[in-house]
Amino acid sequence: MTHPAQPKASHFINGAYVEDTSGTPIPVIYAATGEEIATVYAATPAIIEQALTSAQAAQKEWAKKTGTERGRVLRRAAEIMRERNHELSVLETYDTGKPLQETLVADATSGADALEYFGGLAASLTGEHIPLGEDWVYTIREPLGLCVGIGAWNYPTQIACWKGAPALACGNSMVFKPSETTPLCALKVAEILIEAGAPAGLYNVIQGMGEVGGALVTDPRVDKVSLTGSVPTGKKVYAAAASGMKHVTMELGGKSPMIVFEDADIESAISGAINGNFYSSGQVCSNGTRVFVHKDIKEKFLARLAERTATAKLGDPMDESVNFGPMVSARQMEIVLGYIEKGKSEGARLICGGGRAEMDGYYVQPTVFADVTDDMVIAREEIFGPVMCVLDFDSEDEVIARANDTEFGLSAGVFTKDFTRAHRVIGQLEAGSCFINSYNDAPVEAPFGGVKASGVGRENSKEAIKHFSQVKSVYVRMGDCEAAF
Ligand code: NDP
Repeated sequence: MTHPAQPKASHFINGAYVEDTSGTPIPVIYAATGEEIATVYAATPAIIEQALTSAQAAQKEWAKKTGTERGRVLRRAAEIMRERNHELSVLETYDTGKPLQETLVADATSGADALEYFGGLAASLTGEHIPLGEDWVYTIREPLGLCVGIGAWNYPTQIACWKGAPALACGNSMVFKPSETTPLCALKVAEILIEAGAPAGLYNVIQGMGEVGGALVTDPRVDKVSLTGSVPTGKKVYAAAASGMKHVTMELGGKSPMIVFEDADIESAISGAINGNFYSSGQVCSNGTRVFVHKDIKEKFLARLAERTATAKLGDPMDESVNFGPMVSARQMEIVLGYIEKGKSEGARLICGGGRAEMDGYYVQPTVFADVTDDMVIAREEIFGPVMCVLDFDSEDEVIARANDTEFGLSAGVFTKDFTRAHRVIGQLEAGSCFINSYNDAPVEAPFGGVKASGVGRENSKEAIKHFSQVKSVYVRMGDCEAAF
């Protein structure tokens, strides 16, 4: 019998599911069991062509609509997503292995937030009037045209919406390519947009590996590329986009610092560290994986952290009491286990976890290393799994310098009761998305994105509008035009 996760077809183009089984088969594996639950086929050149042609045609018509009309479609799509939250969350769990306890509150719901927020903004996207004595300039905020979205595998619904919603609000169309590891959820986003009244072709989803992404990025009809992925992929995609002078948004990886000062509320700081390392089994780009704890409270912090981590409930992700799921794939599990072995061999002190969990599926135990030093590989490279590194520090200046000593700059967090210090420290940290006495909140109202190697541009908030539109300025002379000869 066909598994309920099996989509009707691999691609969603021009308002309908489309299949082409001559593409490379991509098995969809349920991470909690290792079972193959669905198959999709990578886009062939013919499929890529259909997607781009229909998106280009749909964009011209969509851009002629008023912002109010565009916004209405997005807000209706948000309502449908909320109505179907349970069904979409189950699919997200099949796609990623993340526990239903998380997907019910974090995935289709955050996608709906983005559709609702940008749907609300669509009608107010205007230019400005710049008076120049008698003359004047006015500006027009115009769409970029055809946008390509390329997603990572950790938040397939959210990424499809975080890119699609602002793109569509500004009058663009989109061709979205999900990660080959999680191809299912974006198809539902495309289906829901059509149901909400989006014109056929406005938001297409096609499957494939890096080559399909590469073909989209280099196509001359494409005006903008928004990628969520790793730094190495980001560098390749950015370079390819640059050769066509295309706009880009790059949401890439991190190795973010979370600093716990001696006056912090320890329970609250441990909650921050747990959220910032173990949510989605650590597969979150903004995670605070370098936890700097003041040496005066370090042992107390570690003892309580170990106690609380021991209560994590691993198991069947569909059981709503389970709060810790598997890695997305066998490959990711092997990468993470490799880093854990590296941490042991580098001499870090293992506080808890430290290996694969004894169960079916790709489960890695929530793992904490203490006495980690700045030069260790586990403190320098993004692991993208449930591995927390705790480092000690003495002084504020020292910890700021060490926190910034990385190529990445996605996020940073500070826990302290001294608010003057909190703002002073945050002001000096090289990161795009920061937290005070919290970690990993990502409301659609707040800009999200990194500095340094962690990315270019911002998603969410009014900032995202700047990255999905361009400004035309028009000088209007009220008198005669004069010239030197
Ligand atoms: P990858 O960088 O491997 O892949 C990202 C996407 O790019 C995938 O869809 C991939 O396709 C595609 N791709 C790969 N090569 C190319 C290419 N040459 N041209 C165009 N597209 C290409 O990342 P992962 O999927 O492994 O995701 C994990 C990474 O994503 C982590 O490093 C994490 O930090 C980052 N991330 C960043 C976030 C942020 O907002 N800053 C949020 C979430 C994750 P395929 O995989 O199908 O081959």
